[in-house]
Amino acid sequence: MPNPFITLRTSLQAFYPSGEASAIARMILTECFSINPVDIYMGKDIQLSVDDEQKLQNIIQRLQNYEPVQYILGRARFCERDFLVAPGVLIPRPETEELIEIILRDHPTTPPRRVLDIGTGSGCIPITLAHHWPQSHVESWDISPEALAIARRNNEMHHTDVLLRQHDILHSKESPIPQEGSFDLIVSNPPYIKQCERALMEHNVLDWEPELALFVPDEDPLIFYRVIAQRASSGLLAPGGSLYFEINREHGRETAHLLEENGFTNIQVLKDLAGNERIAKGVLTSRSTGT
Ligand code: GLN
Repeated sequence: MPNPFITLRTSLQAFYPSGEASAIARMILTECFSINPVDIYMGKDIQLSVDDEQKLQNIIQRLQNYEPVQYILGRARFCERDFLVAPGVLIPRPETEELIEIILRDHPTTPPRRVLDIGTGSGCIPITLAHHWPQSHVESWDISPEALAIARRNNEMHHTDVLLRQHDILHSKESPIPQEGSFDLIVSNPPYIKQCERALMEHNVLDWEPELALFVPDEDPLIFYRVIAQRASSGLLAPGGSLYFEINREHGRETAHLLEENGFTNIQVLKDLAGNERIAKGVLTSRSTGT
């Protein structure tokens, strides 16, 4: 039987750039077939059983259908932890790891007492923060029951105590503001890709990841940011509390302006490692006048 690494890499050649095809092939062999990565590097002659050969063919078919490797493995790495993922949630991205790094860097000594994440997905943001800040109350909202079910499993797997709630931030008039008071930090990586950007996207994102987590209307791309900033400034965020957003790289300036209009100061738009404006943050100093 041919070497499975070569089989995999060759089968993916027409579908992925060669570096990515090799990386996927290595990941599949080490994670799904427990093959030692050193054996792959050394070009050792690896033999699979007949059953495993069948399993490999099935995985190849899925990969040729552009199914993301993280969905095939059922997990994705985020901030040095594994998170369960499935087609109902967005696969955590490296940009979002940078968002976490910035939040943690901004709070080196005293963690915020109450933290809210809007748009849970897999739960990677709130669970990572809860892990770093075990004394804080961390809460997270999502519209999708499917996403909440996965986030719940991740919450259990990581032994964190994130309070997960179903909530439609755009359409419910009331936010479930808890009795205990406002939040000290709000973070969100909401949908921000415009429909007109579809043409630039890869098959593995477009065909597989949840539309609900990705897209916003072309005519109102900042819809989530506006609603969240308004809610934050009208009681959801405590004065002096901070707001962190992951943003569409084309809308840094507008997002900053929106924060300013809603009573935020110390506003900064930060670039990600790829050099794109990706994070917007601000501190709430005054209550919005509601205009
Ligand atoms: N950063 C994600 C992407 O590029 C999009 C995440 C989002 O819409 N919040 O696919």
